[in-house]
Amino acid sequence: MTTASDPAAAPVLPPVSQPFVCPDDAACWLHQHERRADKEYGALILQRPDGKFVATSPTAGEADAFDFERLLGFDRSTQTIIHPPGYRCVGLHHSHPEHEREIVRMYPHYRADQVKLHITLPSTVDLALAFRQAPVLRQLYLSSPYGSLIGYAIDPKHTSRSPAYGMGSTPESRIRRIVTIGRLWVLHPGTVWGGRRGRVTADWVPFQPLTPGPADLAPS
Ligand SMILES: [Zn+2]
Repeated sequence: MTTASDPAAAPVLPPVSQPFVCPDDAACWLHQHERRADKEYGALILQRPDGKFVATSPTAGEADAFDFERLLGFDRSTQTIIHPPGYRCVGLHHSHPEHEREIVRMYPHYRADQVKLHITLPSTVDLALAFRQAPVLRQLYLSSPYGSLIGYAIDPKHTSRSPAYGMGSTPESRIRRIVTIGRLWVLHPGTVWGGRRGRVTADWVPFQPLTPGPADLAPS
């Protein structure tokens, strides 16, 4: 996922979904769409004046990126999001393609299960956007080719450091860092996330089911 490229191209809002009572439901609606395995797809999650949430129809991007400025206005000089008329953008959804070969090339020390777990997680570029827009984008969602859907957000009080700081060199260390400075929750575990939904906490054990408990409640 990226935000960049042609500043002259005005964003175009795709058709939106039916209304949902929470952003997680809008993300689940996006997750169930058919996607080609060789492209990233992106969508906005928008709040209406009545408090309900809608998702824009998923839009295909490139093989290794989705440029959200195709959908969402952005003021470069102030680094602020320009919300679509009639809505407030509260979150983004995007999907990762099955680019295992590239991950193996970039991280030759990973085991096969770590390659898959890595693809279910926000990339360094995704995290940079989560840091930059932390006060506005409180629910970021990511679908993987293994059936998983996760949500993540960075607490605005932790955005003064570099997004790469403390992320470590494995997907497990990245997860532990994100849950320390923000939130990470599993809506659909797919084949990688140990079979259970809920919030991931600092005592998370890799490749094991999440511990059931109050943390399973969807965060707002
Ligand atoms: Zn991404």
